[in-house]
Amino acid sequence: MLRFRNLIVVFGDQLDHQSAAFDGFDPARDLVWMAEVAAEATYVRSHKVRIALFLSAMRHFAAELRAKGYNVEYRKLDAKDNRGDLAGELTAALKKFLPERMVAVEPGEFRVQESLKEVAAHMRVMLEIRGDRHFFCKRDEFAAWAKDRKQLRMEYFYRDMRKRHNVLMDKDEPTGSKWNFDTENRGSFGKAGPASGMKAPHAFGRDEITQAVLELVEARFGHHPGSLQHFSFPVTTAQAEQALSDFVAHRLAKFGEFQDAMWTGETYLYHSRISAALNLKLLNPRRVVAVVESAFREGKAPLAAAEGFVRQVLGWREYVRGIYWMQMPKYLELNALNAREALPDFYWDGKTEMNCLQQTIGQTLEYGYAHHIQRLMVTGLFALLFGVDPVEVHKWYLAVYYDAVEWVELPNTAGMSQFSDGGIMASKPYAATGKYISRMSNYCAGCKFKPEESTGVKACPFTTLYWDFLMRHEEMLGKNQRMALQVKNLGRLGAEKKKEIRAAAKKIRETTAKGGYS
Ligand SMILES: Cc1cc2nc3c(=O)[nH]c(=O)nc-3n(C[C@H](O)[C@H](O)[C@H](O)COP(=O)(O)OP(=O)(O)OC[C@H]3O[C@@H](n4cnc5c(N)ncnc54)[C@H](O)[C@@H]3O)c2cc1C
Ligand code: SF4
Repeated sequence: MLRFRNLIVVFGDQLDHQSAAFDGFDPARDLVWMAEVAAEATYVRSHKVRIALFLSAMRHFAAELRAKGYNVEYRKLDAKDNRGDLAGELTAALKKFLPERMVAVEPGEFRVQESLKEVAAHMRVMLEIRGDRHFFCKRDEFAAWAKDRKQLRMEYFYRDMRKRHNVLMDKDEPTGSKWNFDTENRGSFGKAGPASGMKAPHAFGRDEITQAVLELVEARFGHHPGSLQHFSFPVTTAQAEQALSDFVAHRLAKFGEFQDAMWTGETYLYHSRISAALNLKLLNPRRVVAVVESAFREGKAPLAAAEGFVRQVLGWREYVRGIYWMQMPKYLELNALNAREALPDFYWDGKTEMNCLQQTIGQTLEYGYAHHIQRLMVTGLFALLFGVDPVEVHKWYLAVYYDAVEWVELPNTAGMSQFSDGGIMASKPYAATGKYISRMSNYCAGCKFKPEESTGVKACPFTTLYWDFLMRHEEMLGKNQRMALQVKNLGRLGAEKKKEIRAAAKKIRETTAKGGYS
């Protein structure tokens, strides 16, 4: 009979050779267990790119472990007896290998953690969950930081992290005597557009493993959203390192200045495209932060760019994880703005006359990628102003992005983008008119609507819905100091204009419900 001491469970987003799961690994007595399960691709209707990226990276990781001499039981999705869900596969493995205990690193997702515990309890197998060394901030450290604070604001968490990990610090002072270079990081491309010679992220070729996965995904999930045409992501740690070097050499220097800008047909601009490699743990955030800080110290990137980037990785990424684990599982149910509308159909095909949405959703379906401002201030903004049920918005974001994992996606969606948590994460809703999109992109130049108009045939739906949003939530927003100016401006609109806006907003909702704007 096959009998092992430890069954080392490695999930698809734990592809880390330095993982605590491998501490004390004994090749003679321990077995690594990994499984591809269809339910992970279907519990939200995942973009083909997202499915393929997970599977390819997992298969490469398992091959690397075997090459190091580890015993690996790897359950392929296309194995005839694959049960299709995690609990079923894990239960079968416990019956087959009869380990004394299961060992795993803290799962990234609450749902997976619960499932792991349930299987262990049901099978009466000891379960050892080890801390996740990938992150700068442990779950309990975040809870200690958050305890007794009236408000959890990223900026203060970030400063604390900078000091604690001595990042961009000169003795006790932040490098450059400022914590934040945000004001220098809001550039747009103006009418001229991005400079020629901008270099897209390095495109990685498809080896045999990746090619087999792409064929499998097409055969099994061909009806899922998106295309595999541009699949060129890093799928191993070595490739992820190369992607990081490529970013630092070619795009970091301009990252800060243009991090909020958008441009038709330019998918990546100066962004890094390393989020999925980080989330699968092919890439370590300490390494990323150190490499970026070195680039600044060596004069290869300005401070505003390096600080802007570090803030995303050391600040936002760690902060959203802390919020996620503090708030789950109730975070999924919050709906502070009582938003109840269905997600418009055009989110799934990009067919809409609103050019900004057509561009952003079209790009999302084609590449599985959109950068932060496209997610927050185009697709997210429209859903917020329209009043879409936050659960539907959450499921969409979790499905369609190459880097989507719930612990990052949910706080960004519920907290930052939809304000459905009522302000746990963000101090105010990210509400704006179409003029914001006009300032930060060239989308409006190619659109039949006019961003400055809130009523009439050329009215930009964003602008109409923005004023309608303020009216619908005036009482609540009026209590928020940071919304004071916006609420004051609402007060300047006459009664007749408000009536017209309400009627126009109602029409947008009705037209959209009937599949309009498409
Ligand atoms: C509604 C919404 C949903 C999102 N869902 C996800 C998700 O599922 N997975 C995900 O990794 N990111 C998510 N983000 C955050 C952000 O949009 C992506 O991390 C970023 O666009 C990834 O592209 P990049 O690697 O080129 O990032 P860059 O712009 O180059 O940024 C560098 C890195 O910083 C980190 N980062 C940047 N912004 C954030 C943020 N707000 N929260 C956490 N980390 C951040 C990422 O690891 C990223 O790779 C979401 C944002 C919004 C508004
Ligand atoms: S005018 Fe409005 S709908 Fe059209 S691209 Fe601009 S913001 Fe989007």
